[in-house]
Amino acid sequence: ATQMLLHVRAAPLGVRYLLLLIDDRTEEERLNSVRRDFIANVSHELKTPVGAISLLADAVEAAGDDLERVRSFTRRLQHESHRLGAMTKEIIDLTRIQAEDPLARPETVEIGAIVDAAIDANRVAADAKSIRLSGRVVDDVEVLGDPHMLTMALNNLVTNAVSYSQEHTHVGVGARVEGDLIEIAVTDKGIGIDPADQQRVFERFYRVDQARSRQTGGTGLGLSIVKHVVKSHGGTVSLWSRPGHGSTFTMRLPYVKPQA
Ligand code: ADP
Repeated sequence: ATQMLLHVRAAPLGVRYLLLLIDDRTEEERLNSVRRDFIANVSHELKTPVGAISLLADAVEAAGDDLERVRSFTRRLQHESHRLGAMTKEIIDLTRIQAEDPLARPETVEIGAIVDAAIDANRVAADAKSIRLSGRVVDDVEVLGDPHMLTMALNNLVTNAVSYSQEHTHVGVGARVEGDLIEIAVTDKGIGIDPADQQRVFERFYRVDQARSRQTGGTGLGLSIVKHVVKSHGGTVSLWSRPGHGSTFTMRLPYVKPQA
């Protein structure tokens, strides 16, 4: 806190000085503490796959000629190193986008194009689970911002929708104008999210079910990336979900009004 000595001219009772304590643990301090937390979280989260990889490598060596065991440990090694890779990528993505203001030198981004890109990027994963993945762009408007960030955000929502859905279900991506905003919604018929977890899923590293998320290769960073991207484009993201029935994540962004 900063101390400030004020000379009070018209103070009664001879009180001529007023000591003001000003709380200036302002934005700077708060950001520093967010950064410290983030680094602590990152270190903690990276320890898990790194530890597993090291143990599994020892296990492969100890398995000697037992081919069955060697194969099984190797598969888990691949899984853990894949997860470590995904986590590293998301940490880098998050760090990079946090340092950028997409509205400083914005580009025009077509909503139809980012919907197509997110669907294409998830086609293989959806096919592998026989999930029907479809897009319906009612209003193909443009928004101002960073095309890579916006694609990354929508991509994360579609990836989640596919990961947290059972086989033979449907994942839909829809875009339509509602008043001043373009709404981009990703709907799945998957496992859903408990009301108690619905606020928390946007926090960094938060996973509803650690074990399951680990299996699906999740890092708990996807939705915090979505939230950050949407916010930095002047928009919001919201969630509707019913456990056992499915979820809808909706991004709402200001769009470029066509000239009259
Ligand atoms: P993760 O990498 O674990 O998927 P996210 O930040 O993307 O991390 O999501 C946080 C948590 O929210 C997930 O671990 C999962 O429990 C839950 N979640 C996210 N999207 C969905 C969805 N479409 N259906 C059900 N649960 C979801």
